[in-house]
Amino acid sequence: MKFGKTYEKTLQDEHIPTEWIDRSIHYKLLKKKINQVVAELHERGIDQAIAEQHVNYVYKFTANDKVVSPRLIEISPDDDSEIDNISLNSSVIQQHKELILNKDRVFFQELYDQHRQMNKLMSLEEKKLEQLIAGFAAVVKKLLDQKKKKDVGAWREIFAIYMEFKLDLSREFNLSKFEAFVQHLQKTKVLSRLKKDNLKMFDTFHQLNYSLLQFLTFKNLNKVALRKIIKKFDKNTLLKSSTDFTRLIESTNSNQLTLISGNSIEQIICTDIIKILPQLDDYLCPICASIAYKPIRLACSHFFCVRCLIKLQRQGENKCPLCRDPHLMYVTDQNLDTQMMVFMEENFPEEVKLKRKINDKEVTDETLKALGYNPNRPCCIM
Ligand SMILES: [Zn+2]
Ligand SMILES: [Zn+2]
Repeated sequence: MKFGKTYEKTLQDEHIPTEWIDRSIHYKLLKKKINQVVAELHERGIDQAIAEQHVNYVYKFTANDKVVSPRLIEISPDDDSEIDNISLNSSVIQQHKELILNKDRVFFQELYDQHRQMNKLMSLEEKKLEQLIAGFAAVVKKLLDQKKKKDVGAWREIFAIYMEFKLDLSREFNLSKFEAFVQHLQKTKVLSRLKKDNLKMFDTFHQLNYSLLQFLTFKNLNKVALRKIIKKFDKNTLLKSSTDFTRLIESTNSNQLTLISGNSIEQIICTDIIKILPQLDDYLCPICASIAYKPIRLACSHFFCVRCLIKLQRQGENKCPLCRDPHLMYVTDQNLDTQMMVFMEENFPEEVKLKRKINDKEVTDETLKALGYNPNRPCCIM
């Protein structure tokens, strides 16, 4: 399929808003304008000479008050490189002949205006997105500030799956991966665990991602269209415009589209949102590799489950298993890190509950064993 068609189809398929499409690069329309330049060269009888490389032309552009002035400078066919050194104000340019066309100005002005419109729109949209991201980050923070952190486990799971999906727009320009992520969430039933408020929060998260994807898709599509249309001009007219026109739009239309365009969605969500949420990895006991239950913090500041440390003590170990600091002998129920224990109960309620169950079973088994029962042998009546 030709690029013009693919481009229009993608804009449609990705549900880009109509008012955005209106302000995008109009590839097909610009292509028609290129044909007019080609026709003009033909009518003037210059096309043949250019095709046979008897003459060689290179563009130099300036823009003043949004009006583009292209100058088409004749250079010797065997010396492309000299044009790079020509500045429009220099006297060197006077030594070169110029070709004045009419239709080329129409094309470049149109392209310049379209690019400017598109950039202006993107700049506004980017500000809106930044607000959306900050707003969502604030909602996550509010959830964490509550004493009873409803659904925090479910959220952690959602974010973990989200990271696994690696929604990176620097490589892919479509919504299908994001839709696959949402479908996967529905399958794992994690969404059905969310209470009313949090379900609303998920809608916001969904909307945010959708908007981000749409923004980046649109931006990337336009970038490709712009590059292609400039290339097309050079290919069809055999005049050289790409280097200097790219320089012109980069210098005059450059705006601050750096925050979002430079990053993948994954990075944005990770930096601004997911990092606020406490991560289980930071609260694991290095001995049993699950959440530190009734955590004891040693003098060296390393922490472990109280039972894991007591078991070590029973084996005659008296040093911290991580740094070999000799503080283990002081381990008792008295030096529980209660603050951390409360924090973990609030932030990892499901993990703590599971660990408590395992812990309680171990204690019961040990007590039974001490009393002479084998807890693993089925009970039978003799
Ligand atoms: Zn442990
Ligand atoms: Zn230590």
